[in-house]
Amino acid sequence: RERAEEMLSSAVDRDNTRLGVEAMGLLDAYGIPTPYGEVVDTPGAAADVAARIDGHVVMKVVSPDILHKSDVGGVEVGVADAEVPDTYADLVARARRYQPDATILGVQVQEMVDLDDGVETIVGMNRDPQFGPLVLFGLGGIFVETLEDTTSRVAPVSRPEAEAMTREIDAAPLLRGARGRDPVDVDATVETIQRLSQLVTDVPAILELDINPLVATPSGVAAVDVRLTID
Ligand code: ADP
Ligand code: MG
Repeated sequence: RERAEEMLSSAVDRDNTRLGVEAMGLLDAYGIPTPYGEVVDTPGAAADVAARIDGHVVMKVVSPDILHKSDVGGVEVGVADAEVPDTYADLVARARRYQPDATILGVQVQEMVDLDDGVETIVGMNRDPQFGPLVLFGLGGIFVETLEDTTSRVAPVSRPEAEAMTREIDAAPLLRGARGRDPVDVDATVETIQRLSQLVTDVPAILELDINPLVATPSGVAAVDVRLTID
């Protein structure tokens, strides 16, 4: 909890109330698994990071002014090492084209999570003026707003409540292995809901938090994208 508050206060010092990739460390501190990644500000440094990661990488533009990175062509999945420098330039150019006034800090180079056996879920929190912190779970990814398959509980969320959340969304059969697919690690998903609930209970300065997606796979979960607002 102290580490969490320290991390947030350094962000507030910089007059930053919306955090993206900067909040990855906060998830780490609460034991929520995140794939390895680094933010760099040159194509060469991006190539160095990619060289340290096995297989293909994911690259994402990093800007405090860009909320939905894929909307501006700011996410490239499955980038081979040799393509990394050019992809860096493409991502920055695209972001500039869509949003000329955006401050672009660099590019995140991240380990890839296998989506073939995975389900993209969302785990989040909104503070409700009446009920307080509402923890949300549902189907995630870039279609979350379109499909609206989510459920919520007031934090702190107990283990039975978190388990119920994973059972009551429409997409629940997908988690348990539909159409011959392997079931995902529901236990790790439940654990993550509870850890996020603990984080937002410990740190009231967090007004809003979204892990989208939390990729749930048969062998665990990975928070590949996070966004939060602090007061
Ligand atoms: P945004 O939500 O800002 O558009 P995300 O980081 O959520 O950006 O990336 C968009 C999509 O790209 C994700 O929903 C997921 O399908 C895919 N993606 C992102 N990061 C990874 C990763 N590390 N491994 C595999 N797929 C990823
Ligand atoms: Mg996202």
